[in-house]
Amino acid sequence: MPLQKITDTILFDDNPGPMSANSCAVDLGEYVVVIDTTFSPQTAELYRNEVEKVFKRRVDAVLITHHHADHFFGAQTYMDCNLLMSTTEVDHIKKLLKTRWSKENLERYKQNDPLAQGLLSDLEIMLPHETFNIEKLVEGTNQRLIINAIGGHSSGIAIAYIPESEVIIATDNLMTNRFPWGDSSSSLQDWITSLEYMKQWNAEVIIPGHGKSADMEMVDRYLAFFSAAEDVVKRVIQEHVKMEDLQNIIKRDVPEFLPAKDFMEIEKTFQIWIKNYNERR
Ligand SMILES: [Zn+2]
Repeated sequence: MPLQKITDTILFDDNPGPMSANSCAVDLGEYVVVIDTTFSPQTAELYRNEVEKVFKRRVDAVLITHHHADHFFGAQTYMDCNLLMSTTEVDHIKKLLKTRWSKENLERYKQNDPLAQGLLSDLEIMLPHETFNIEKLVEGTNQRLIINAIGGHSSGIAIAYIPESEVIIATDNLMTNRFPWGDSSSSLQDWITSLEYMKQWNAEVIIPGHGKSADMEMVDRYLAFFSAAEDVVKRVIQEHVKMEDLQNIIKRDVPEFLPAKDFMEIEKTFQIWIKNYNERR
């Protein structure tokens, strides 16, 4: 895993290992924070070793941006550090531990997926040490990590900004290589607010949850797509469009954007956005 140097104090890996989301690390000045832990404890260990070699310091804290396994399952590698996560995202984990991530269900998942079996052979799901509601500031002697659990892709997903380096960590609120799908808690309104935050923050480099690093132009592309998506969502609600007609409306009115896994992924995300938009009004 060749670590890219975004600046002398920010390291980024856009391909940390199979099934993993991106991970990055920032030296705030006598305080090193890793953002996201990859999919597997082994991958996380390799990554952590690299980071500590380059920075010549041990990792002090880890921000887990949201609960999805590709960002979170490496957490046990960092149990000696301060593990930070938003309260809303921890609540998702607590629920999943009783359902999809119960011991039996995880065993079944691993048995059916040889790649996951290898990557998660010694997985232990850990809860973070410290939670925060919306905002959290982590300060070193040279720079700050401003964290905001603004929601979007997942209801408590946290994005972050390092003003002294002009770098935004957008995590899955800005994936550069795939369609912006959301989980069942995803909010279109929150996602738009998070993109507006990114606009205000203004940065030279945006670190995405998946894909290569980007610049503010990608935020503009996202905003344009989300504005069109919001028009569609509002119209579907106002005109009481039947869900079976949604497919045609998406095909007709939603502009082509980043590639989705399949059309179902797009349709499912719109169904979630419509449901959650309606509930919030
Ligand atoms: Zn995600």
